[in-house]
This record gives sequence, C-alpha cells and structure tokens, in this order.
Amino acid sequence: MKSKPEHEEDEIKMEKMIGLFKKVAENPVSNRLLQRTLGYCEKDKSTKLESSLNYYLEKKDDVCKSCKLLSKIVGYIIEKGAVSFNVSTDELKEKMEDEYWVKGLASVIKGITIFKINKPFVPGAPFQVVWNITKKCNMKCVHCYESASTKAKDELSRNQVLNGIDTMAKSGVTSIAFSGGEPSIHPHIIEFIETVDDNGMFPAIATNGYIFKDEKKAENFVDNGLGFVQISLDGINPKTHDSFRKVNGAWERAVKAIKNFVDLGIFVEVSTTVTEHNIKEIPDMINFLKELKVDWFMLYNFIPTGNGSEISSLDISPEKREKLLMKAYQENTDKMQILSTAPQYAAVAESINSKRNRLNGNFTSFEVNSNTNNYKNIYENNNKNNYEYTNENNYENNNENNSENRYEDNNEYLNFKNEIYDEANNEQSVIPTHFYNPEYTNPMIAQLAEFIGGCGAGRFYINIEPNGDIYPCVFFPHEEEVKIGNIIYDDFDEMWRENPLLKQLRNKELLKGNCGNCESNNICGGCRARAYNYFKDVLAPDPGCIKNEKEWEILKTKISEEEKLKINEIDQEKIILELKH
Ligand code: SF4
Ligand code: SF4
Repeated sequence: MKSKPEHEEDEIKMEKMIGLFKKVAENPVSNRLLQRTLGYCEKDKSTKLESSLNYYLEKKDDVCKSCKLLSKIVGYIIEKGAVSFNVSTDELKEKMEDEYWVKGLASVIKGITIFKINKPFVPGAPFQVVWNITKKCNMKCVHCYESASTKAKDELSRNQVLNGIDTMAKSGVTSIAFSGGEPSIHPHIIEFIETVDDNGMFPAIATNGYIFKDEKKAENFVDNGLGFVQISLDGINPKTHDSFRKVNGAWERAVKAIKNFVDLGIFVEVSTTVTEHNIKEIPDMINFLKELKVDWFMLYNFIPTGNGSEISSLDISPEKREKLLMKAYQENTDKMQILSTAPQYAAVAESINSKRNRLNGNFTSFEVNSNTNNYKNIYENNNKNNYEYTNENNYENNNENNSENRYEDNNEYLNFKNEIYDEANNEQSVIPTHFYNPEYTNPMIAQLAEFIGGCGAGRFYINIEPNGDIYPCVFFPHEEEVKIGNIIYDDFDEMWRENPLLKQLRNKELLKGNCGNCESNNICGGCRARAYNYFKDVLAPDPGCIKNEKEWEILKTKISEEEKLKINEIDQEKIILELKH
C-alpha cells in the first residue's frame, strides 16, 4: 500500500492532538477535574496548575495531596501532546527547565479548560501584560500613544501596584512589561521588577533609554531581575529621532543605552514606530542594529491614538507597509530577528514561505494568495465587500481608485514582489511575529498557527494604565467603550472570562469588510486598535492592509489643514527642546 507523504501524516497527527485536547476539554469528567486545577494553592504557594505541572516535571519533590492527584491528568495531556509533536517526554522536560515555559503551558491548559479549543485560541490568562506604570515622562514624543508628560493625579500607589502584581501572578500571567510614560523614572520601579521576578513572572521594561546612558543604572535594573529591555529608536539619523522625541541628544543616549544592555547580556529589543518620517531609514537601521548585536528589531505599526491621533497623515500606505514587511522578513537572520506589530506580517511571511515550500516541493494547506496574480483576486474581492463606513461616505460611487488595473499597472510594486519571491528559496530562521510563528516547513506548526495567530489584543495580551484601568491593548484610546476593567476594583479572572468586548475581539467571524472575508484572518485579523482609532469600531477593517485600500483612500481625504501644518513643523525640526535633567 502506498504510504502518505510525510507532511500529510504530520497534519493528521496535529488533527489528532487537537481532537484529543477537544475531547479532554469537552468531556464533563476530565473538564471537571481540570476545573479543579484553576485555583490558587495556598499550601504550595502557586497556582494549582503550576504546582501539579512542576510535580509532574519533577521540578518539585513534594506538593500537597490534591496537586499530586491533579498532576496525573496534567501529565496525561502533556504526554499525548508531546507524542503529536514528535517530542520525547525527556526532551519536553528539558524544555520545561525554563520556569516561563511552565507558566506558559499552565496558561494553555487553563485556556483549554475554560474556553475549550477554538480558533483563535484563548489562554487562561494573558501571556503578556503591558503596564503603563506612570504618565510621567522625560520626553514629549509626537507619536506618544499615552500623551505622557507629568504624573497623573489618580496613579496607583506602591501598595496597589504590588497587589495588582499579586493578582496577576495568581491568575497565571506569564510576563509583565512596564511601560509609561517613562517607567525607569518611577520611584518604585526596581521594587516592581523584583516583585514580578519573585512571583515567577518574566519582568520586562519599555524605555526611551534616556537614563540608561549611565551603565551603572542599567546594571542596577539587571541585577534586580530585569530580563528584557525594549528601547525606542526612531531612525538612523539622530535628527530624525530627536525631532520626534523633541529632545536634543536623545538619539545618542538611546544608542548608548542599547550598547550598555547588550554588554550586560540581557535580551535587547529595539523598537521603531514606522511612519513617513523615518521609513527610508529602516534599511540602514537594520544594518546598524545588527552591528550593535541587538536580539530583536521590532517595527511598530503607527496607530493614531494619543499624540499620534494628531499626525495620522504620517501613517504609511498599505502598499508601503506590505513592501516593508516583505523586506523585513527577507532580512531576518538568526542573529537579529526583525518583527512587526503589524498583524499582516504573518500573511506576508506565509506567502513568502509558501513560495519557498513550493520550490522545495512541500505544499502546505496554507497556500493562499501567495503569488502576484492573486492580487487581481484581492481587488475583485475589494469590490464585493463594501464595509458600511465606505457606504456612508459614498465610496461605491468612486471606484476608480479601486480598479484591478491599478495593480496590473504598478510595475514597480510587482517587480519588487517578484524579486522577494525569487529570493525566497533561501533558508530562513523561525520568527515569532506578534504571537504568530510562520514556520511552515512543519505543517503541524502551520496548523497550530491558525489557533494562535493574529492580533493578540484581549487574547494573549492586555494593557493596564497608571490608574489601574485595563484595555485590550496599549493602542486603544482611554475611552469607556473599550475599557474592560480595573486591576484593583474588578475581578481579574472574571473579566478575562466574561468581558463582552473581549468576547467580540476573540470572534473572527464578527470582523467586518474584507477582514471578515479574508482567508488570512486566522493568522492576521487586522490590527483592532487601528480599526477602532480610525473608525470607532473594533470590528472594522484595518486600513493598513492592501486588501482594505479602499478605506485607506477615504481616510487620506480627511486629513485637516491643521494637521498638515503640524507635520511641516516636525519636518523642519522646529520643536526640539533642551532637556533640563
Ligand atoms: S484583510 Fe484583514 S485579515 Fe486579511 S490580511 Fe488584511 S488586515 Fe489581515
Ligand atoms: S490591536 Fe492587536 S495587532 Fe494592533 S497593536 Fe494591539 S495586539 Fe497588535
């Protein structure tokens, strides 16, 4: 009898694993047993899931009776999962030496128990919480999502923050990243980092790097548990950076901070919000940051929120974003990975990988819209799926921008795309992009990507504000309509399970326009913060995608004269301040 090709067997294995997880989650007996693992074990001082996992993995010699019992069912699930992934139990145990893997796995099992197995997958607690710990900042960035300047009156006290950290540890959050404002100037930041670390979560910080020009300060943070630092850098040209930050010398200090943290050996990410102001500098930045030996270069999507809402005309066009993401993907190396918060990165990576797989003779079930001819189909789709925003604006009467000929005429674009595809037979490293990992050489991982991929707002990720208010992502404006709770006054687990906005964000069937009909919406789904900030609708199409270019064209017509003047000022670098401290 003819045997099945290897990749088909892998797909079957993955289907089996997902089937097994579904059975475990949906069977009333096993689900009831798993429900018992969701609480906090006062005897073992950790969540019951982590305690039973650690016992199963032999990382703890002894745990309470109840956790010992629970370790049996948890162990059963893990062993079945390991078989499906072709990993031995020993290899798995080796991986689980890292305590954050244990936390992540516990969150996955909690998610299966509460939310069952659905696309997209929802873990039992956010993998990452970005906590804007203060509004106080030593810079005045024109694109600041927080509109930060001075400390807000209602910021949480030290004790309230410590209580909030405790709440999240008990819920099973994996990592807390402090941001701001500028978190490094908060008087208790070191204690907060230490507490996150002591509670078994991964502490990170997002900073403008200003104070870390001083290596002693950088060392102090690392000595107290900091494991990951993200430093913002807006360009290769110091003037580009300083004019955006409105501070002379900011670039120089940020670069020194990057060097200091690289020398200290922690994980260093450099982030750049890509706009019309700096897009041309990205290729040089890639080379520069590789030389500096940073681990990740994160290309942040511009989102018109906070101060950014006044400069939305600096947002790059869908076509430029697509080209940028293709280039970024091609430039990835094991030494420095280039990531993006633009969820379209996954779809772009997928199309490039599909081409590579084709060249290698491997076809995956993900081969969709991956060649230039398919752009014709995308534009035909555009004509079929009119989002109501466009109807309100009589866009249907104005279809000349939307003609399929537009792309056929766009030789420069097609040549660029062909060039990228022609180079696509080079081997590339695995890259995680905004909670999505487009490594398609293993179709099992590809199937899993459909469950975990796409915008992580309110699913893998939430944001806490200085006053404790919680939003699905840092890029949502601080409006009641998109607020989901408060870390001090609300029940965190209940919010995670029941909040109606979170339920909406986790249901891709509700997406509108082309995002709703798109075959890539399980791995992308569009940036929900961009949709909300542009259209006041979390389910609207993301106008940053080439499939939603119709919405983009309308937005461009709405830029005010006032905004154009402001952009002019930035371009002329008129607004740089001298920093006093
Ligand atoms: S249409 Fe929406 S879901 Fe599809 S690729 Fe574009 S942004 Fe992503
Ligand atoms: S809304 Fe989603 S895609 Fe956009 S920045 Fe937030 S998590 Fe990322």
